[in-house]
Amino acid sequence: MHLTIGYLYATGMNVYGDRGNVLTLVQRCRWRGIDVDVVERGVGESSPLDHFDVLFAGGGQDRDQVAVSQDLQSDTGRALVDAIENGVVVLTICGTYQLLGHFFKTVSGEILPGLGIFDATTEAGPRRFIGDVIVDVHLGDEVMSLVGFENHSGRTYLRSCQPLGIVRVGAGNNGADGTEGARYRNAFGAYLHGPLLPKNPRFADYLIQLALARRYGEWHLAPLDDRLENAAHQAMVERVRRRGRIKSGVL
Ligand code: GLN
Repeated sequence: MHLTIGYLYATGMNVYGDRGNVLTLVQRCRWRGIDVDVVERGVGESSPLDHFDVLFAGGGQDRDQVAVSQDLQSDTGRALVDAIENGVVVLTICGTYQLLGHFFKTVSGEILPGLGIFDATTEAGPRRFIGDVIVDVHLGDEVMSLVGFENHSGRTYLRSCQPLGIVRVGAGNNGADGTEGARYRNAFGAYLHGPLLPKNPRFADYLIQLALARRYGEWHLAPLDDRLENAAHQAMVERVRRRGRIKSGVL
C-alpha cells in the first residue's frame, strides 16, 4: 500500500504551520503501515499532477500569491485541473484556496487570476478576520466539527460551489453568509490554519480514505489511538466556549 503526496509551493505558501497538514497525513498513513512519499513542486516546476494521490498547498502573503497565480495560469494550472477532474484528493488552505477560485482581488485592487475550479471569487476587505474558528461539516455520512485559526483579509463568495461547512464560531469565507471553505469533487479549500489536520484527525482520515479508495477501491482505515488529537480538538472548543472568540477584525 503506497500513497504519493505532492506538496505545492511549499516555500512561499506555508504560514501558521500549514506544513503540519502534510506531516499529519504522512504520519497517520505510516502508523497504519501505508508507505508515503512526499514530493515538493515549486513555482515553474510544471508537469502532470494526476499520478499524485493527494496534493496540498498552504496559505501565504498577498505578495507570495502573485507568483502562484501566474504559475496557475501555466501548464501547472492545467495539470491541477486535470488532477482534480480525475479525482485526486486536494487540500488547499487560505491563499491557495483563494486562487482555486476565479480570482483574488487584493486590497490595492490588483486582480490575481485563479483556476476557477471552485466557482467562487475573493476580494480583500478593509479589516482582517483573525481568530479561532469552529465549523460544522457534513461529508458523506460523516458529521464532524473542525477547529482552526483564521487570518485573512479576503472575503470569499461562493457561487454554485458547495461550502466545506457552516461556521459556528468565526468569520469563515466572508463573515456574512455563515459558510466556510469549498468543495469540488475531492478538492477542498479552507481558511483554517493552525495547522488544520493535527487537531482534526477525522478530517485527515477522511482525506486519506478518499485517496485510498481512488487508488485501491473501497478501503477501511484501521482506527488509531486519537486520544491526544481529540483532546487538542476539545481543548480548543472549550477555550472558545470559555473565553469567546479572540477579538478580531469582525467582532
Ligand atoms: N493574503 C490572503 C488574505 O489575507 C491570504 C492569507 C493567508 O493565506 N493566510 O486574504
